[in-house]
Amino acid sequence: MRQRGFAAARVVTCDPSREGPLGTVQDGAVVFEGATLVFVGPRVQAPPDVPLVELGDRVVTPGLVDAHTHACWVGSRHEEYAARLAGADYRAVARGGGGILSTHRAVATASVDDLADSLTSRLRRMATLGVTTAEVKSGYGLEADHEKKQLRAIAIAAGRRGVPAVVATFLALHALPPAAGDRAAYVVHVARELVPEVARERLARFVDAYVDEGAFTTAEARAVGEAALAAGLGVRLHVGQFTDVQGAELAAALGAASADHLEHVSPAAIEALARAGTSAVLLPVASFTLGGAAPPVAALRRAGVRLVVASDANPGTAPTESLPLALALAVRSYGLSPDEALLGATIRAAEALGLTDRGALRAGARADLAVWDLPHEHAIVQPWGLAKTHLVLAGGEDIG
Ligand SMILES: [Zn+2]
Repeated sequence: MRQRGFAAARVVTCDPSREGPLGTVQDGAVVFEGATLVFVGPRVQAPPDVPLVELGDRVVTPGLVDAHTHACWVGSRHEEYAARLAGADYRAVARGGGGILSTHRAVATASVDDLADSLTSRLRRMATLGVTTAEVKSGYGLEADHEKKQLRAIAIAAGRRGVPAVVATFLALHALPPAAGDRAAYVVHVARELVPEVARERLARFVDAYVDEGAFTTAEARAVGEAALAAGLGVRLHVGQFTDVQGAELAAALGAASADHLEHVSPAAIEALARAGTSAVLLPVASFTLGGAAPPVAALRRAGVRLVVASDANPGTAPTESLPLALALAVRSYGLSPDEALLGATIRAAEALGLTDRGALRAGARADLAVWDLPHEHAIVQPWGLAKTHLVLAGGEDIG
């Protein structure tokens, strides 16, 4: 197969084996064959017979990895946003049948093709923003048939051309479905029947649960998390968005791949996350939209917890598809350095999804990269409000 490549003023590898916080190579080159990178390094060391497309002063980075999205949805939540701006509380709106339940109604009445088409459009727009891998959760179906319909829609969209690679997560406990008579019976049904079915049908790689006051308890999430591990699936948990109900402790105890949100988390839980190797997935767009607090980033950093930044793309609390917007807010509102934010959307995000073949530019990795119409990688985290990519490749194919 023919080798192709690029040369640019700055090749930001995010490869920890290279020097500097982002392993940046000045006057660098990347060469790939098919879906795989075969050379990353100084241009003068590139294989001499490979034609290099000249990118001039542009910056090349690994393709971005969005490790937390709810991108498979239909409908609109604009009325609820207006109500919240007028003073209504998010959780009061949810108790009144808005919030997650409002998107549940839209998803329950949509066909699998409608859901797949809506997700495909969203994934294509994400690609233009530099994203080459996106995690996508179910969680709006709530009832077994609709959850599986949502997961099938995710698989259909993932199989289409021109979209980022997709990692599917079964968000098993998001809200109690309106028709569920008995709460305890619902959790048992999800843990004992639905999780093993999803694993058997290979509809998801991870299982997630929303652990918070007014959502699900740690005991309920533990039942579902243990079922996931027994079925060979990984665990990620929404914890501490509104209240610390010790969801982070549960994430650490289960050896979860990630604990997400973490606006409210204790010092002891931070230590537990560090010991367990559980990544912290920070979601600053949701804090912005809800006017909420920032997570204790300095304490997480000090403890050595790996920091990931994700979009949280969803119709209610993070109505965006833009991981670069999340990076801008992570720097501005959460106090991450530009380097931390970029690592959190590349190699750290890939690690949090259990993917070792991407997130860094190095020989042998997937040819996932973004070329930015920007003079320096630190400009990526400025709040542009529009796509600043020149080119986006996923597995060596142009998707952006
Ligand atoms: Zn979420």
